[in-house]
This record gives sequence, structure tokens and C-alpha cells, in this order.
Amino acid sequence: MRAAEIQDDLAQILVTEEEIIAKLDELATRVAADYEGKEIILVGVLKGAVMVMADFARALPFHAPMDWMAVSSYGASTKSSGVVQIRKDLDTDLNGKHVLIVEDIIDSGLTLSWLLENFESRGAESIEVLALLRKPEAAKVVIDCKYVGFDIPTDFVVGYGLDYDERYRNLRDVAVLAPHVYS
Ligand code: 5GP
Ligand code: MG
Ligand code: MG
Repeated sequence: MRAAEIQDDLAQILVTEEEIIAKLDELATRVAADYEGKEIILVGVLKGAVMVMADFARALPFHAPMDWMAVSSYGASTKSSGVVQIRKDLDTDLNGKHVLIVEDIIDSGLTLSWLLENFESRGAESIEVLALLRKPEAAKVVIDCKYVGFDIPTDFVVGYGLDYDERYRNLRDVAVLAPHVYS
């Protein structure tokens, strides 16, 4: 697929790469101040959070070990069911750790709400969430997300790690997917 055809699949660029990098720098400054003198572990949720983790972690001025978890919501519908299955678990024992979960997007919030409970049961000292994107109108559960990049409408978006059928993850910007792609 050529670049021009990929552009054709996008209805609108929502957040540009420049805006993302600037926002992650800003969030990293806040995180650095909030965790002064503490050791944190960054937990990325695969695969969508890969790009966020890469740029956010490099904006931090101190050591920030990373670990990764892969989960999938399953159930009859294509929407998140809140019933979560662990596909890849962490390598790290979270007991006593200050955990910062790094997420691409909070939609219904069901996956994250499950993850927060799961991490609490592992004895983490503190758990906070950083999400590049959030869809406030799609929320089914209230998630206390301390670090949010951008609040966006409910349209399905791709790029910067976010996929549709495993495609578009490598786009630099976040864009609304054109309806002709999935209809
Ligand atoms: P939640 O449990 O919050 O409903 O689902 C969160 C997950 O659904 C995200 O981590 C992401 O993988 C997927 N998701 C939700 N909204 C979008 C979207 O607009 N675009 C893409 N590509 N994935 C989304
Ligand atoms: Mg995610
Ligand atoms: Mg996906």
C-alpha cells in the first residue's frame, strides 16, 4: 500500500506528531516532579502503547524501567467487554513498587479498570495511569487517570500505535479512520 492510499483512508488528522511529542514532554515534566526521589516502573500495555512508551520514557530525566503486559478483552461483541485475558504477563514483581501504567487510549475504561484491580492485588505501593488519549463520552467506568494527553471525540482513531486490523500503527499522527475502510 502506497503513502497516498494510506492518506486516503484517513478522514482527518486529529493530533499531529509534533503535538504528541510536546504533550508527552509536558507530562514527563509533571511525572518527574511528582515522583522526585522515588523509583518508578513503567508498565506499557501492548501493543498500542509502544509509541507512547518510546517517546514518553525518553522524555523522563531519570531511570525508568519498563515492563509490558498484553491483554485482550473477549466476549461476543467487538467492543471491550471488561472480561480480560492476560496474553503476556509482566516479568516484574510489582510488590512495593510505584507503578505508572502507560496507555494509548481510554475508551470505555473497562480494560484499565480490570488492570488497576489486578495490579492492586499484586501489592503495588502506588498505581497511576498515563494515557495519551481519552474518550470522555465513551466512559462506562470512572478511571482516575492522573496524566491525560488529549481528550477526543468518540470516533475510531488510528496511528501512533493504534491499529485497525493491525494496520496504521506506524503512522506518525493520530487520525480518524475514514468510514469507507470498515464499511
Ligand atoms: P476500553 O476497555 O477502554 O474500552 O478499550 C481500550 C482499548 O480498546 C484500547 O487500548 C485500544 O486498544 C482499543 N480502542 C479503543 N478506542 C480505540 C480507537 O479509537 N482506535 C483504536 N485503534 N483502538 C481503540
Ligand atoms: Mg491500550
Ligand atoms: Mg487494536
